Amino acid sequence: MSRILCPLCRQPLQRQPAVWKCAWGHSFDVAREGYVNLLPVQHKNSLEPGDSVEMVLARREFLQAGYYQPLREACVALLTPLGAQALLDVGCGEGYYTGALTAAAPEVIGLDIAKPAIRLAAKRFRNITWLVGSAALLPLADASVDIVCSLFSQLQIAEMQRVLKPGGHVLVVTPAADHLWSVREQLFDTVQPHEPDKFLAGFEGGFELHTRQEVRVSLSLEQAALRQLLEMTPYAWKAKPEKRAALEGRETFFTQAAFSLMLLRKM
Ligand SMILES: [Zn+2]
Repeated sequence: MSRILCPLCRQPLQRQPAVWKCAWGHSFDVAREGYVNLLPVQHKNSLEPGDSVEMVLARREFLQAGYYQPLREACVALLTPLGAQALLDVGCGEGYYTGALTAAAPEVIGLDIAKPAIRLAAKRFRNITWLVGSAALLPLADASVDIVCSLFSQLQIAEMQRVLKPGGHVLVVTPAADHLWSVREQLFDTVQPHEPDKFLAGFEGGFELHTRQEVRVSLSLEQAALRQLLEMTPYAWKAKPEKRAALEGRETFFTQAAFSLMLLRKM
């Protein structure tokens, strides 16, 4: 039985090479790149939901340069010992992290609401199921996956809990308190520390904290990489344009990325 559900009637989708169909006759074409769009028009809040093409491309360039590779390796190292069968990466973007997670589970599903991101992901990694879909209503059966990953994406904890098998795990990756502090000092008059602990509060009751770690990466950024980083973070568009312009004019900029990794187990 397919673990992937029709987003319209919540019946399992039978997967065929060119089209996926439910028993009620709803059908979803497999795109040329290999992904399937399971976001019905009526679930869209905007014409092009999720990250823009510009943001996705900037992020892909930055990540391909390897700046955040230590984080990707840390995620794989944390998840591989769990011996999972099926892993879901929610808010997977263009799949930089997802692509490496095949080391942690034989079946990997990457889901994002942004079609431009999923299209790029599907072109690059063929051995993963790529879905355009909503994290708020995942097109997945109850208790159907062993691991759910959420890297820098909005947490929909009730949905994660629903699709996880008993004893399954959630990996949450979020900025640590001083993530890109020197970048933020250039953009804002006052800098607020990130509060990764706030994310844990939502898991109380249904989950227990399994492992927690921090990954820190020193970055020496040339101008092009700095611009890509600014394009992919929410900081830049909250900053005053003149401050952003001044920062983007820098030839080289040193900063430190800091990530909080929280692995939780469903009780
Ligand atoms: Zn259906």
